[in-house]
This record gives sequence, structure tokens and C-alpha cells, in this order.
Amino acid sequence: MENFIVSARKYRPSTFDTVIGQKGLTTTLKNAIREDKLAHAYLFCGPRGVGKTTCARIFAKTINCEHLTPEGEACNECESCRAFNEGRSLNIHELDAASNNSVEDIRSLIDQVRIPPQVGRYKVFIIDEVHMLSTAAFNAFLKTLEEPPAYAKFILATTERHKVLPTILSRCQVYDFYRISVGDIVEHLRSVAAKENVQTEEEALMVIAQKADGGMRDALSIFDQMVSYSDGNVTYKNVIDNLNILDYDYFFRFTDLFLENKTADCILLFNEILQRGFDGGNFIGGLASHLRDLLVSRDAVTLPLLDVSDEMRGRYQAQAQKCPQKFLYRAIRLCNDCDLNYRASRNKRLLVELTLIQLSQLTSDDSDDASAGRRPAQLKPIFGTASAAPASLPKNSTQTSAQPAAQPAAQPTAQPTAQPIAQPTATPSAQSPTPSQGIPTIPRMAGGRSRLGTVSIRAPRGQAPETTQEAEPTPSPVQQTAAPTSPDMPFSIEDLQTAWRAFAGELPREDIATAGRMNTMLPTLEADGTTFSVSVVNSLIESDLKKKKPAIESYIRNKLHNSRITMQIVIAEGATSTRLLTPRQQYEEMVQQNPSLKQLMETFELDLV
Ligand SMILES: [Zn+2]
Repeated sequence: MENFIVSARKYRPSTFDTVIGQKGLTTTLKNAIREDKLAHAYLFCGPRGVGKTTCARIFAKTINCEHLTPEGEACNECESCRAFNEGRSLNIHELDAASNNSVEDIRSLIDQVRIPPQVGRYKVFIIDEVHMLSTAAFNAFLKTLEEPPAYAKFILATTERHKVLPTILSRCQVYDFYRISVGDIVEHLRSVAAKENVQTEEEALMVIAQKADGGMRDALSIFDQMVSYSDGNVTYKNVIDNLNILDYDYFFRFTDLFLENKTADCILLFNEILQRGFDGGNFIGGLASHLRDLLVSRDAVTLPLLDVSDEMRGRYQAQAQKCPQKFLYRAIRLCNDCDLNYRASRNKRLLVELTLIQLSQLTSDDSDDASAGRRPAQLKPIFGTASAAPASLPKNSTQTSAQPAAQPAAQPTAQPTAQPIAQPTATPSAQSPTPSQGIPTIPRMAGGRSRLGTVSIRAPRGQAPETTQEAEPTPSPVQQTAAPTSPDMPFSIEDLQTAWRAFAGELPREDIATAGRMNTMLPTLEADGTTFSVSVVNSLIESDLKKKKPAIESYIRNKLHNSRITMQIVIAEGATSTRLLTPRQQYEEMVQQNPSLKQLMETFELDLV
């Protein structure tokens, strides 16, 4: 690799035909040249690295060529073409407006315009990043653009068309350059690799092309790096290691876990990813893309939108067949929500974990929804509130908080000091889970344990026919299985907020501050219909509320006769101004909630700023 020339330069196309991914546009330009119908100014718009400057240079060379080929391409042999190819032609002037955007720069360019070409027919002026010109420079340039000499041609290039003044736009023929498709990039990389005698794996080129996001220049520069890192053998493993890209195998595994409702395994697998040094935000983004890819693989019509290699295509299709469409829609939305909230979130890990928990329960919720849809129609009028209460009693025995239900808002502050207080604070789940990470995940999983039991009965419904009799208790309400776990009653947001206030009203005197706060921050209901969110302004209130979470959840579940109700605490956006804690205190508090954070800090030798 002694005389190493970057591939982007070495393999820069020299004719319109070799420009990749802009076929329609180059054909139009070729035709215009052949028919001698040239505009005096062109505007090339498009993202970086897709061939705008390259096309401008080819255009300049072609219109000056002495022996055009019948196809309208430059011959690359005449004196003019050679001068262009060797970079010594006097008929091309390039100005990078990003760094030369003053009036003086434009004036000296205008001076050049006045001088006719000594050889050849046209002088071509390329102004790159034209939107960066100062207003004064724009105005100075406008006059020349309006009435240029016949031999002058302008090619303006921009990545941001909306920033180009309308007066300029209206004087130019506009060409839109598009992102180059992954397939086109891969094909080009493959040909470069062959010429350079570099071994490559198809998957590796695919990853590079995806990373380049439609820009050939970026793709080639990544490719060069990979070649030098990997000693001429560009493998998939090499590339994802060097580009720090998460192996998509993880996403296939996650999707399988979601479908099998294996919540705990999801959390563990996510932990593994974090330990390998990947960022949770990138992970969620990648997961969303994976789910999107699954969605497009479901249908032959959208299949062309799937930018993966042929061997991967089969794998995507196979997994897509296992995913119900509804699951994919919801999962993508959950990932998207997580992605949107990620930056603002104080406890990012928790946010991702919560999302994974929701994802892993989507299909189990699904089956529940279906039955819940049928059941209340028959049961609700019969059982009403009266008979549902006894049904909920055995369920509560596990939670020890049967009392609050028995004494609703009737006796407010007088007696509660004696009894129900004890539970909210003393609920073992508040202290005991310290060894495990992330308190909020615990109640959800523990609370769902009984439900997980039902799920595992239903899960195999596809294969085992004997479960059907178990899973359909609908006709006979006397069914034993239904009593301890369900029925989950539908409820409204008003019901929820009333129950929330009732809980606050029953808090003991020493919790008066919490009670007051609870009354000002009313919960909102999430899209899944059973999760409700409470928005808090700082982590102090958050941790206070977290301690009460198990008690609140069990109280509200009980009150509304729905065992699936879950509470989630969100720190409100823009809440940093009301911060009460120093960074050190916040850290310590977070460690208390999530001990593995400490390990993370120690492993990576991180420090607080
Ligand atoms: Zn020529």
C-alpha cells in the first residue's frame, strides 16, 4: 500500500456513464450536450457525497471536448480532455463558497468570467455550497448570473436548496441528486475491491453501504479504512467491530424473545449489549430499523424496500412470518417513543429496559385483549362492582394490602395513621430488591408473575390442542382458573385519577408532602390502556414515588379490578432547572436504584464532572 490513493479519488468517474446512482440525471445532461441545448446556469442539489461536483466536472470536460462520442460523452483523448483529466485546464474554475464566501471572492470570480477562453469553447464556473455565500456576495453575483457572456457556464451546487435565494433559483436549471441506493454502493465497492485485490464479504460491504447513508464518497472512505484495518480481508466481523456496529444477530434474538414473552431474558441480553460498550440509544434505533425491516418483509409489494443481502433476505422473511402485523406496528411505535424520549431521559437505561419489558409483553397483551374484549360484555353487568371485590381478595393476600380497598375515602385522615400506612412504606418489595437492578422492573415482573402463569398456559396454544379448553373460560363464569387471575375490568382515565387521589387521601400524616404532590400530578394513561404514567419534576420526587410504587399499584389494581395496571414514573422534560441535588448526590441515588451503575462506572473508570 505504498502509493495509497484514496479510492474516492482513484475511482472517481470520468464519464457520465460511470457515475453511479444518478442515471436519469446524467442522461438528461448528455442529451442536452448532444443537442447543444445548454442553459447558462445549473443548480445541482442533493446530499453530500452523491456526485454533484463530480458531475459538474464531467459536464465541464464534456462541453469542451473536441471529439464527442456519439453517446455524448467526452472522448478523454483530445487535448482539452487530457488537460481536464490532469487538472491543468484553464477552462474550469471552482470556488468553495463554504470557505470563500465574501464579496471579494465573488469579485475575483467575476473578473475571471470577463476573460474569454483561450482554448476550447466554454469556461465553467463551479460554486460549491452556494448557499453559504454572504448576502452581499449573492447580490454581487446576481448581475453576472443574469447576463453572462455566451462562453460562461455556471454550475452551482448545494446540499441545502431551501437556503438558496429565490432570485438565484429562478435563473438556474435545477437538478436533484438522490442518495445512492445500498445496492448500487455495494456493487461499486465490489468492483473497487476486485481492482484492488481485496477480499470482501458481501455482508461487510452491505454494512459499509448502510453506514454511508447514500453517499459514495463516505462509502469509499469507510471502505479504505476497513481495508487498512483488516489487512486486505474485509469481513463482516471486522467491519462491525471497527465501526462499532451492533451485530444484527442481536436484533433477531430480541425479536424472538419478544414473541416468546421472555421479559427477563430481554433485560439480560440488553445488559450484555451495554457491557460490550454499546449505547442504549443506538440500540433502540437499530431495533426500530430491524422491526421496520421485518414489516416490509411481510409483503411482496414492500419487499424491495428491504436493503439487505440475498442471504439475509431469507432470514428476515422467516422471522417476519412469525410476527403478527399488529405486534410489529406497536413494537415500532414503542421503539420510536423510546428513541424520542431517550435524550431527555435522566435514567436512560431504565427507559430502554421499560421499553423492552413492554415489547416482550406485546403479544401476551394481545391475547389478553382479545379475551378481555369478549368477556366484559357478558360478565360486567352480572358481577358489577359488588361481586368483583371478593374475587379480588385472594389475589390481594399475596400483596398484603387488602385493607386500603376495604376502607375507601370514607374515613379520611383519622384512622389511616394506624393501619394502611404501614404497608406502603413497609412493603418488602421496596427494600428487598436491592441486589437486583432497577426497582421498577421488579414490581412489574413480580406482579405479573401470576399472570405469566396464565400466559405460559396460553403460549403454546398453536401447538398443543389441549390448552384450548383451558384458555377459553368464557362460557362458564364458574371456571376456577379465571377467579384468581382475572377478570380484568376496563377502566377510564377518570377512574384511574379518582383511585390515585384516593390513595393520596389515605396516606398518613407524615406523608402529607407526598400526598400533596400526588394531588397535583395526576396520572395519564398510556396507549396500551393499562400502563399509566406520572410525570415528576426531579429525581428526589421520583425516588420518593418509586418507594410507594408497589403500594400504589396494588391499591389501584385492586380498586379498579384490573391486575394489569402498571405505573411508570417519568421525569418531566426541562425539569433540570429545578434540580435539587448535586451530581454526586444524584449519582448516589441512582446507584441505590440501580447498583450495576456503580459497576459500570468502576469498570470504565468513569468520573462525575
Ligand atoms: Zn475530448
